[in-house]
Amino acid sequence: MSIKSTNPYNNQVVGTYTELNKQEIEQKIEAAQHAWLQWKKISFEQKSKMMIRLGELLLAEKEDLAKTITAEMGKAIKESRAEIEKCASVCTYYAKNTQEFLKDELVETDAQKSYISYQPLGVILAVMPWNFPFWQVFRFLAPNLMGGNCGLLKHASNVSGCALAIEKLVSKAGFPDNVFSVLLVSGKNVAQVIEHKHVKAVTLTGSTEAGKKVAEKAGSVLKKCVLELGGSDAYVILEDADLEQSAELCVNARLINNGQSCIAAKRFIVLKPIAEKFTQLFTEKMRAKTFGDPSNEEFELGTMANKTLRNQLHQQVEDSVKAGAKCILGGRIPEGEGAFYPPTVLINVKKGMPAFDDEMFGPVASIIVADDLNHAMDLANDTDFGLGGAVFTSDTEKGNDVARNQIEAGSVFVNANVKSDPRLPFGGIKQSGYGRELGKNGLLEFMNIKTVCVG
Ligand code: NAP
Repeated sequence: MSIKSTNPYNNQVVGTYTELNKQEIEQKIEAAQHAWLQWKKISFEQKSKMMIRLGELLLAEKEDLAKTITAEMGKAIKESRAEIEKCASVCTYYAKNTQEFLKDELVETDAQKSYISYQPLGVILAVMPWNFPFWQVFRFLAPNLMGGNCGLLKHASNVSGCALAIEKLVSKAGFPDNVFSVLLVSGKNVAQVIEHKHVKAVTLTGSTEAGKKVAEKAGSVLKKCVLELGGSDAYVILEDADLEQSAELCVNARLINNGQSCIAAKRFIVLKPIAEKFTQLFTEKMRAKTFGDPSNEEFELGTMANKTLRNQLHQQVEDSVKAGAKCILGGRIPEGEGAFYPPTVLINVKKGMPAFDDEMFGPVASIIVADDLNHAMDLANDTDFGLGGAVFTSDTEKGNDVARNQIEAGSVFVNANVKSDPRLPFGGIKQSGYGRELGKNGLLEFMNIKTVCVG
C-alpha cells in the first residue's frame, strides 16, 4: 500500500511513500524500546543541548520546512513560517524548564523520608493531524523527549513529507537513533501499534471519531491515552465590548489556518442590542480577506487541505441554509483546480443546524443572537464540545467571571483569541477530549508519578 501527499492548490503529487508492513512496524517498535532503555539514563543537561539544537535547526531551515507544510496542506506560507517559529519556542521552553518541573518533591509523612519522583513511561505513540503538521508534533515531542520518553509518530497520511522532515531534523540535532521515529502507517493499522507491549501510552490529536476508536483500543489493553479532539466553541460578544476590536479579533480567530483549527472560533454569540452592528463589522472584515495560491505572499488565506473536506464543509453550509440559516457572505465553491472555500458568514443560526451542532472545519462563521447574558451562556454551553472559548467585554471583572465560572471549556480567553502557549496547559472537556498537553500538566501526562517512602 502506498501513502500519497497531494498539493491541494494544484493537485500535483508531492510525494508517494510505501506503507510499513507488519514486520517493519514490529522492528520499529523494538528499535524504539531499545533506544528508550538508554535514553532514560541521559542527563537533563545532555537532552537540553539536543533540544536547543533542534530549535535552532528549525529556525535555520524555516523556509524549506514552511514550503513543505504549504505544499502538503495548503496553508498560507506566512502562517507556515509562524508555525515553525512556534515549534522552536516549545523546544527552548522544555529544554529550559523540564528539569525543574520533574525534580523530586519531598512530602512529610510518618516515614523517615517520603517523596514524589517523576519517571518516564517509555515508548509513546503519537497519532497526529494534518492541520498544524509541525506544531502538533512538536508540542508532544519536546516535553516527552525531555522527560525521558521516546516517541513514535503516526502522522496524518497527507503530511508524510512533514513527518519525515521532522524525523530528519531530530536526527540532525544529535538525538540518538530511534528516540523519535516515524511510522508510515494508515489509521487502520494503528491498533497493532497500541497493542504492542513496548508501547506504553498513546496521544491522539484529531477528530472526535478517531479519538473514540483510539481510546477504545487503548482501553481494551489498559493503556493511558490523551485525546485532543474537535471543537465548536463559542466566542461571546457582550453589549459593552469594543465592537471594532472584537470584530477584528473574531475574524482572525475564525480564519486562522483557513478555519481549520480545533480552537478556531466557530460560533459567535452576540447580544441582541449589538448584533446588527457586530454582524456588519464582522462581515466587512471577512469580505476583505484575500485568498489564492498559498505559496504567494500576497494572499492571507490558502486552500483547504483537500477537496473532500472542502465539499463536506459546503454540504454543512447548504444543510444549515436549508434548515433556516441565511448566508450573507461566501457560501459558493469557487471555480478552478484548488481546494478553495471563501470566507463565509451565516446568520439566523440555531440549534439543530450543522452550523450550531457540529464542528465547521473551514472558513465559515455562524452568528447566533442571544437575548441576554444568561441566554448567551446557555447557547455557549449547549454543545457537545468544550475546547476553547472567549468573551469580549469592556468590564474585565465580568469577563473574568464568565471565563472562570460560566463557559464550559478547557480554556477561555477574555478580549483575546484562544491560542496554545508552551507555558499553559491545553486541552478539552466533553467531546473535545481529555488530558492536557503543554505546561507542566502536559509534561506529567506520560510520566510515572512515583511515590518513594524510606523507613
Ligand atoms: P482525523 O481524520 O481524526 O485524523 C487525525 C489522525 O488520526 C490522523 O493521523 C489519522 O490518520 C488518524 N486516524 C484516523 N482514523 C483513525 C483510526 N480509526 N484509528 C487510528 N488513527 C486514526 O483528523 P484530521 O482531519 O487530521 O484533523 C482535524 C480534526 O482534528 C478536527 O476535528 C480538529 O478539531 C482536530 N484537532 C484537534 C486539536 C486539539 O488540540 N484538540 C488540534 C488540531 C486538530 P490518517 O490520516 O491515516 O487517516
